[in-house]
Amino acid sequence: MTLIDRDRAVLWHPYTQTLTAPAPLPVARGKGVWLYTEDGRSILDGISSWWVNIHGHSHPKLNAALASQAGELEHVVFAGCTHGPAVELAERLIEILPKGLARVFYSDNGSTAVEVALKLALQYWRNLGEPQRTKFITLHNAYHGDTVGAMSASEDSIFTRAFSTMMFPVERVHGLDHMEQRLREAGDSVAAVLIEPMLQGAGGMIVWPAEFVAGVRRLCDEYKTLLIADEVLTGFGRTGKMFACEHSGIMPDIICLSKALTAGYLPLGVTATTSAVYEAFLSDDRSKTFFHGHSYTANPLACAVALASLDLFREEPVLERVSRLQQQLRAGFESLRVRGHVRVIGGVAAVELASDKPGYLDGIGPRLAAAFLERGLLLRPLGNVVYFMPPYCITESETAWALEQIVEVLR
Ligand SMILES: *Cc1c(COP(=O)(O)O)cnc(C)c1O
Repeated sequence: MTLIDRDRAVLWHPYTQTLTAPAPLPVARGKGVWLYTEDGRSILDGISSWWVNIHGHSHPKLNAALASQAGELEHVVFAGCTHGPAVELAERLIEILPKGLARVFYSDNGSTAVEVALKLALQYWRNLGEPQRTKFITLHNAYHGDTVGAMSASEDSIFTRAFSTMMFPVERVHGLDHMEQRLREAGDSVAAVLIEPMLQGAGGMIVWPAEFVAGVRRLCDEYKTLLIADEVLTGFGRTGKMFACEHSGIMPDIICLSKALTAGYLPLGVTATTSAVYEAFLSDDRSKTFFHGHSYTANPLACAVALASLDLFREEPVLERVSRLQQQLRAGFESLRVRGHVRVIGGVAAVELASDKPGYLDGIGPRLAAAFLERGLLLRPLGNVVYFMPPYCITESETAWALEQIVEVLR
């Protein structure tokens, strides 16, 4: 039996309709931007393995950090215990995060980082004696994850519809004027505004101007509510700055990080916040405690790899690579303007193809994915939105090759 046969007998893959999906790629090894399959194919990872990988697969320095940490301490309960990697990573993150973010809460992935942010915001207001602040304002086309709170905050879509009975209502807005109108109407009932700064990912690779993010900050100040920035995708250089909030020079009250945090090695989530939010939880009254935690909170292996990834940002011109990649993507996607709306930011390029049935279910997505794969390029179009988001370590000639495949297939 092949690996695929055995997989088909026992496994269930994410976001996959097994009845119609092509067989999964049997990946044996990875190196740099390349995946090597069991049956001898080389495939360029054009989606950074679901947007997590930034320095390439099986990186020697990250491997060494992981092995070394495994020899010291693989894991320990994080309630009542602490360890070097967790402390050092928090210190290093606070150094590089927008100024004012001063406390790090760990969890396991992007969805949990968002759940923690939502729960922190609600309890923050309750602890301050404003329990009526329970509403969340989010954006249309948002995607914040697949757990219930993160789903509730995401756009109402085919991803979430079957679960509508378990979700809580949120206010979804379009643009600053609409947001201001809702904030005004809602009075003092808003707990937080939640956005993906600069780039909405799963909602269709939608790029926002820096002025929009600055405007959201201004509105949150004016209406005295919290701003949560979901940088699960955008954090660690993806949009060309270390964090997308830097494009507009703002500080959110809460930031969510995951994905590239461990350079694509291990699941880890961070929810970082200000001293003001943190201090609202300090009390003799134990009911003001933040009662949230996961078995693998602050996993030392994940923290150690995250630290090694931050070292690579210091030792190598990582952000310069993203900036060069952005230039090459801009030039390469130029010719695709005749096919649809082109958007490029940092290490992400997308073209939204004209379609009779736009959206995730547009049948063109799977057909294009198959054609790219045939040529050795792994892409997963979001319906009629074709995007390319490789690890930053991709070379100029590898990028040129991938762009050529994209242009030819779309032609
Ligand atoms: C991927 C993503 C999440 C969810 O992260 P998971 O690790 O997949 O749970 C949340 N927010 C944004 C913006 C994302 O892109």
